[in-house]
Amino acid sequence: MNTSDTQLIRCPACGANNRVPREKIAQGREPVCGRCKTPLLAGGKPLIVTDATFATEVERSPLPVLLDLWAPWCGPCLMLAPVLEQLAAELAGRVRVGKLNIDENPLTAGRFNVRSIPTLLVLKAGQEVDRIVGVQPKMEIARRLQRVMSGE
Ligand SMILES: [Zn+2]
Repeated sequence: MNTSDTQLIRCPACGANNRVPREKIAQGREPVCGRCKTPLLAGGKPLIVTDATFATEVERSPLPVLLDLWAPWCGPCLMLAPVLEQLAAELAGRVRVGKLNIDENPLTAGRFNVRSIPTLLVLKAGQEVDRIVGVQPKMEIARRLQRVMSGE
């Protein structure tokens, strides 16, 4: 198979690597995992993470996680929201993008000692590997993520 025509996407549920034809993605068809049938792109939308789901969605994620700690009253957080939506779509299958509302989920915010928002945590197996505080351009966030992905 010509690898330039396929994209390697790791299943967000079971971690299996799937080769997906780029044509299929371009056509907007939702590829599913060959092993467990989970949709591989999860719609390419940020995932809502809570104190209760942190262990499942972040600590046990086979992918690195970009977690946005935000609150509805925080103007800069709202500015950053569309950037995270774009990153979720562009990095589907490589990075899981999540959002955690700190008002509703103070335990996670406290655990990572987050004092100002927006704060973006980059996590591998639940461990913080990078932290981006404040609003940053999308290119800068992507660059920092690239470093984490290439360090695998
Ligand atoms: Zn799977």
